[in-house]
Amino acid sequence: MAFIQISRSNFDHNLNQLALKAGSKERLAVVLKDNAYGHGLEIMARMAAEYGIGQAVVISNGEAERIRGHFDNVLILGDAPKVDERLSYAVSDLGILRRIDPRVKVELKVDTGMHRNGIRMEELEAALEIVRSRGLRLFGVMTHYRSADELTSEYFWQKKNFEWVKEKVEDSGFEEVRFHSHNSAALLRSKGFDEDLARVGIAIYGYNTLPEGFDPVELRPVLSLWARRASSRRLKAGERVGYGGEFCAPRAMSVSTYDLGYGDGWPRGDASRPYRTEEGKEILGRVSMDFISLEGEREECCIMADAARAAKHFGTIPYEMTTALMPWIPREVVE
Ligand SMILES: *Cc1c(COP(=O)(O)O)cnc(C)c1O
Repeated sequence: MAFIQISRSNFDHNLNQLALKAGSKERLAVVLKDNAYGHGLEIMARMAAEYGIGQAVVISNGEAERIRGHFDNVLILGDAPKVDERLSYAVSDLGILRRIDPRVKVELKVDTGMHRNGIRMEELEAALEIVRSRGLRLFGVMTHYRSADELTSEYFWQKKNFEWVKEKVEDSGFEEVRFHSHNSAALLRSKGFDEDLARVGIAIYGYNTLPEGFDPVELRPVLSLWARRASSRRLKAGERVGYGGEFCAPRAMSVSTYDLGYGDGWPRGDASRPYRTEEGKEILGRVSMDFISLEGEREECCIMADAARAAKHFGTIPYEMTTALMPWIPREVVE
């Protein structure tokens, strides 16, 4: 079975860096949605809690149930609200505000420019009026940036919009509301971060997605992907490997199959442009559903220890590389 190693020291290093940026670890909410970006939900929740993080963000009630014991509060971004002291819900719609159970902890999401989720800024006053008249529990007010990781001024006008939102909420007499807008890229580029919380995802896993030109914050990949040798053979020069025989042995060589394939979430890619493993070995020929071929007879090979490098190769982003890794691949923590 292929397996995943999770480096505790790299994770702690990343949290240290982010806590410095945020001002304290109490201001960090770890984003653990989608199986903690493929790293393993329970493992990452436990390690974050052991580090001293009290806040988490997930997408569903099901995810929240599995990790709730580790955190003071879990924010759920996309599921049906439930009344629960330990759970809060992003609410993006006036209709929901009108009919939600008044005991739910609401985090009102305001669209400050991304135009994906959130009430419009023009609707804020109406939303606050519903909150007031129905006696809802306004636990937080949040927004999300569309281009925090691009070297443009977009982040600034959206931030300005959120400042306006904050002022409106405070002027309307709401106290003890937590405000949060920053994801990883926004926190990493911020100077003098002063919100209550940053919702950090990709950065805790070790990827700084900011382009050159920002102060570099060094982060370390937490996940490495390994595969085990399934079988080996000697090839003569001219013999071919795998579906379509796309790899042709240029000389006599020893080749092994390893137990990782596109069924595990590893990209099939383009065999004419082979990916190189962490040890510099080319994947030979096409990726099968459950196997890849590499030269040599090593028992275990590290296929990927840097999802940013792999993402570049496959024309995607590190988020997709790690999130695609299937939950049944065993994950183990190494110190
Ligand atoms: C996924 C997500 C985040 C985390 O984003 P990163 O870029 O991984 O830090 C923060 N906020 C919301 C609303 C999200 O959906």
